[in-house]
Amino acid sequence: MSIEDLPIRDDLRGQTPYGAPQLDVAVRLNTNENSYPLPDAVVDAIAKAVQAELRDLNRYPDRDAVALRTDLAAYLGHGLTAANTWAANGSNEVQQQLLQAFAGPGRTALGFGPSYSMHPLLTLGVGSRWIGALRDPDFGLTPDAAIAQLDEHDPDMVFLCSPNNPTGTALDPDVITAVLEKARGMVIVDEAYAEFARPGTASALALLPDHPRLVVTRTMSKAFGFAGGRLGYLAASSDVVDAVQLVRLPYHLSALTQAAARAALAERDALLGTVEAIKEQRDRIVTTLRDRGLRVADSDANFVLFEVTGDQKIAWQRLLDRGVLVRDVGLAGWLRVTAGTPAETDAFLEALQ
Ligand code: PMP
Repeated sequence: MSIEDLPIRDDLRGQTPYGAPQLDVAVRLNTNENSYPLPDAVVDAIAKAVQAELRDLNRYPDRDAVALRTDLAAYLGHGLTAANTWAANGSNEVQQQLLQAFAGPGRTALGFGPSYSMHPLLTLGVGSRWIGALRDPDFGLTPDAAIAQLDEHDPDMVFLCSPNNPTGTALDPDVITAVLEKARGMVIVDEAYAEFARPGTASALALLPDHPRLVVTRTMSKAFGFAGGRLGYLAASSDVVDAVQLVRLPYHLSALTQAAARAALAERDALLGTVEAIKEQRDRIVTTLRDRGLRVADSDANFVLFEVTGDQKIAWQRLLDRGVLVRDVGLAGWLRVTAGTPAETDAFLEALQ
């Protein structure tokens, strides 16, 4: 008996699930997590907040997560309110809800690869067709190149990712406005790594007031070091939030998640305190590898895409043999490494040497 013997949907036959290896090795730099454990004071604050919910677990949580959305809006600024935000169990779930509401069977979604591997998988999952458009050879994207591909494919929904995973490339706001003007449908800008951007990099949040079909997705999994807490969110017009409520499961965000995320947000100074240290390691990786003569993509994220000599699968295995887990994103000749602690960077740089 195998999956193929089940009456599974035809469009899922032969597909492989998302599967970044979860291996028990000393240096794990493959899923762009924040390497720093939560500080004790934050652990205590979250424990207290979760504890306060326990007696009421007989009741469903706030279905609309209003208090959490209010806090998220305050964190984002830009004049946003709870009505402009929505939260779910990771930004993956937010994007799935967006696809359910604005794509679905018979529609198409387009993204510019190489980019985040879940965008096509989530698209497939809701019965839409994925259109793999392309970034420029240097991993950037110009307005003209983006428009030409939109003209060719006329998608129902567009994914942009800035800073882009796996390349680290931030998009110029001109590209986003050009796409917004050309595209018929919703434009999702995935800003999972926004907090790591170098100074001068603009967020698409500033474009929201003039663009009702724009949605910006964010996550607490990266800069906040809250990947295990599962909290992603979006900012958009209140109409988009209304639309997403048509497809969300009732009570999708547990009382414990909401309480923990609110406590983490309240402690954001302590949590985001690691961001500068991580950016330092990112820049150190970029500089060191370039000094060694390797091609390295510019990064505004907490990871670096670098070229290896020969087959990247072999280089990946050799690094793993030395206790360093990085990511093979399926890009011939390239690997991606997360910027973690200075000691992790030391281990990576030494193993790569
Ligand atoms: N978007 C991008 C670009 C990512 O790299 C990731 C995590 N790898 C996510 C979204 C999803 O993160 P989460 O569901 O943990 O919010």
